[in-house]
Amino acid sequence: MDLEDFELIYKENRVKIKDKTKIESKLKTIVGLNNFSTKKIDILAYSKDSTLIGFNWEIECKIAGLADFITWPETIEQICEILKLANQEKIPVIPYGEGSGVVGGAIPIYGGIIIDMKKFNKVITINDKNLTVTAEAGINGMNLERYLNTNGYTSGHIPQSLYTSSLGGWIAHRAAGQFSTKYGKIEDIVLGMEVVLPQGEIINFKTIARASTGPQLDKLFIGGEGTLGIVTKATLKIWPYPEKRALISYAFPTIENSFNTVREILREQIYPAVVRIYDKSETARHFPDIDNAKDKVMVIFICEGNSRLVDFEESITREKCDKNTGIECGEHPVEHWLETRFRVTETSSMPPYKIIFDTIEVASLWDNAADVYHHVLESMNQIKGVLMTTAHVSHFYPNGVGIYFSFGGVPPKGNSDFKFYQECWDTTIKAVLEAGGSIAHHHGIGLNRSHWMDNEWGNAMNTLRQIKKVLDPNNILNPGKIYIETWKRSEI
Ligand SMILES: Cc1cc2nc3c(=O)[nH]c(=O)nc-3n(C[C@H](O)[C@H](O)[C@H](O)COP(=O)(O)OP(=O)(O)OC[C@H]3O[C@@H](n4cnc5c(N)ncnc54)[C@H](O)[C@@H]3O)c2cc1C
Repeated sequence: MDLEDFELIYKENRVKIKDKTKIESKLKTIVGLNNFSTKKIDILAYSKDSTLIGFNWEIECKIAGLADFITWPETIEQICEILKLANQEKIPVIPYGEGSGVVGGAIPIYGGIIIDMKKFNKVITINDKNLTVTAEAGINGMNLERYLNTNGYTSGHIPQSLYTSSLGGWIAHRAAGQFSTKYGKIEDIVLGMEVVLPQGEIINFKTIARASTGPQLDKLFIGGEGTLGIVTKATLKIWPYPEKRALISYAFPTIENSFNTVREILREQIYPAVVRIYDKSETARHFPDIDNAKDKVMVIFICEGNSRLVDFEESITREKCDKNTGIECGEHPVEHWLETRFRVTETSSMPPYKIIFDTIEVASLWDNAADVYHHVLESMNQIKGVLMTTAHVSHFYPNGVGIYFSFGGVPPKGNSDFKFYQECWDTTIKAVLEAGGSIAHHHGIGLNRSHWMDNEWGNAMNTLRQIKKVLDPNNILNPGKIYIETWKRSEI
């Protein structure tokens, strides 16, 4: 089958490259023959990320986006040269980590050059006194964490996609790991970075615990989604590997009881590393054998670190659970979660049945967290074809939460799967904004949320667009993401 036989989903705006042979020859000279490809199989491999509807498209012979050239640079100078060439020729460049993003961030919707960062895969140094690790940005998450564990440390950043995501991808999307309630999101963990700007200039943000040296420009590139620069190296906080873990679980009558419990725990400055609240539907799905949790909201906790601190954190956690009518469910639910936490077979089992399934994570302060939860569920249940919407809450702060919705459904007759998918997304985002929440917690903006950025940011979005223009006047770095103008679909 030829690439031309596939239906291309994002075909508008594709950049026409005039002299492909000339560009090909220049790219080969920059990265070397072994680090370059235009083979159909490679172009196909980089046509998508892990956006879940992509699995439905795949079995229907549809392709999200098509790049023209794939490169695997090995040095920062090669990245600079590719970017300079791309600016001269006005060709899009798309940084690519491991393709585990779920919002279309790495999809080459305008075509162009993929820069796959996988050859930037080394740990450079661990500094025990400063408690830092410096690594190249293409390093695989599990390889980095294994290296740290072998040397007696952890970064505390353990996303569900640990085995399939990269350090650069985490930084690009402001990722959150499962242990974020203690260790923070990636923006709390990154201390220093090296970045190549869109026109090929290298800048360095030096590693420092805290400083007062003007605006925090480095923050622009954390969450930049490969549109403002390519991260090539970063220094992260690390911690001694925890001495002890306490596994705790309780079931609560309502989502409100569970929210109050966790809020009261964090108010005391007690930070269990893992806290996960499963609403009643998800409790029934994930913990069907736990009698005490029947028709209830399951909450699991892991406290970890110094053993005396863990004992203390455990006692306060239990005290707050008891006070808020929690029923003890023992260690087993937490052990079950630990065993299954990287398993995602559910998602890939849906497309053969033509079911559209996806997840949308959002954020809110405590005072409207329950409103966001209920309003999204009510809004989603009004969409024709939606079969289920459920939620768990897995990232907590003294001031608010990250809520993670999952939905599944079958498009009604006459409605395309993409239209149905977009309706589900837009309905969720609209409900979140109406209830006072924020449109993304850790998966980023990518393609799925770009058209909501003006609603989220207000006129600050104009400033962000101006910054993008200054750094990337030719709009070559990952075009079509984040900055697009408000789109008609938002009038849902
Ligand atoms: C099963 C599953 C579970 C997941 N669990 C989590 C989770 O627990 N927490 C979480 O936060 N996310 C999770 N994700 C989402 C995904 O893993 C993250 O968004 C991750 O940060 C993407 O990393 P990546 O290396 O795969 O990036 P890619 O998908 O390759 O790229 C993502 C974006 O980053 C840009 N980019 C990549 N590398 C660089 C670089 N070096 N410099 C600049 N830009 C770059 C790309 O252009 C793109 O815009 C999950 C995804 C899946 C499929």
